Amino acid sequence: MEFELIEILQQRIAVTRADVRLGIGDDAAILAPPPGHELVVTTDTLVAGVHFPDATHARDLGWKALAVNLSDLAAMGATPAWALLALTLPDADRTFVEHFADGFGELAAQHRVALVGGDTTRGPLSVTVVVHGFVQPGRALRRDGSRVGDQVFVTGSLGDAAAALRCLDRRDPQAASVFNAPTDTREALLARLQRPTPRIAAGAALRDVATACIDVSDGLLADLGHIAARSGVGIEVDAVDLPASSALLAVFDADQRLALQAAGGDDYELAFTAPAARASDVLRDLASLGSGATRIGRVVDGHGVRLLDPDGSELVLHRRGWNHFA
Ligand code: ADP
Ligand code: MG
Repeated sequence: MEFELIEILQQRIAVTRADVRLGIGDDAAILAPPPGHELVVTTDTLVAGVHFPDATHARDLGWKALAVNLSDLAAMGATPAWALLALTLPDADRTFVEHFADGFGELAAQHRVALVGGDTTRGPLSVTVVVHGFVQPGRALRRDGSRVGDQVFVTGSLGDAAAALRCLDRRDPQAASVFNAPTDTREALLARLQRPTPRIAAGAALRDVATACIDVSDGLLADLGHIAARSGVGIEVDAVDLPASSALLAVFDADQRLALQAAGGDDYELAFTAPAARASDVLRDLASLGSGATRIGRVVDGHGVRLLDPDGSELVLHRRGWNHFA
């Protein structure tokens, strides 16, 4: 049975690459990184009921398991190449694995990622993916390069995934506003949660210009906090400048929106810093790649991340939204 499932994965995640000397089927894979490059490696696990709702469709799960890993490579500015997949399944459900493989395979094909091995075991549903990418020596994007005077940017828009999570949580009183929204608005929000877009092209474009970069998985302010800590700087974010999708604008008022944009996770956009003199290059280059980017703040002396109102006063999150600090 296990062999049959592996065959389904192999057939439906069908990217082939010349640098895979030996793929699925032996005790281990043999891979040939391009000469003179550094290998960038990362892994992420998704556990049912913890990282995704139990009712998540297998196709979306397959996509997301690869997407969250590719997002980490994007944040490093790396070009993806190979993946390993450790799949733990409650039972040998052929249909589940077919759908899972289709979702995983669709994204793998987009980025030419070859599935080169993995493990298949029985147990509570959980998915671990390892991805490998390449970067020229010393050119990977890191969290520790922000300098005072840099500006802060984010790709795409923020808050949609957190809004969709609300929509799925029927106990959340604010979910009603999502339920009452037009179908295409609801679908647009859900797609951001279930099928996040790893910003691979944006990450590659940023290799020449960003001083630090991270993907937004825990929430913008929390993730910028990692850049601030690693770089030994402070970061100020202008609340009014946070980018919102038209779907988010249609459903939430300004206060609810800000909570979702600043603290909601799962967007998998890239948050990064770059020298002020390069700001127009950044905005132009990322606009041409489709993801777009928005300037949202600046790097300052000090530590931590502060969210600011237009009048310069600090906003802090309370149980019912954002209030002035004082
Ligand atoms: P072993 O017992 O030697 O580890 P396995 O039976 O676990 O071998 O796996 C056989 C082959 O199938 C190996 O090449 C392994 O990498 C691959 N494989 C197993 N599970 C998966 C999976 N979920 N996705 C991709 N490849 C897998
Ligand atoms: Mg094994």
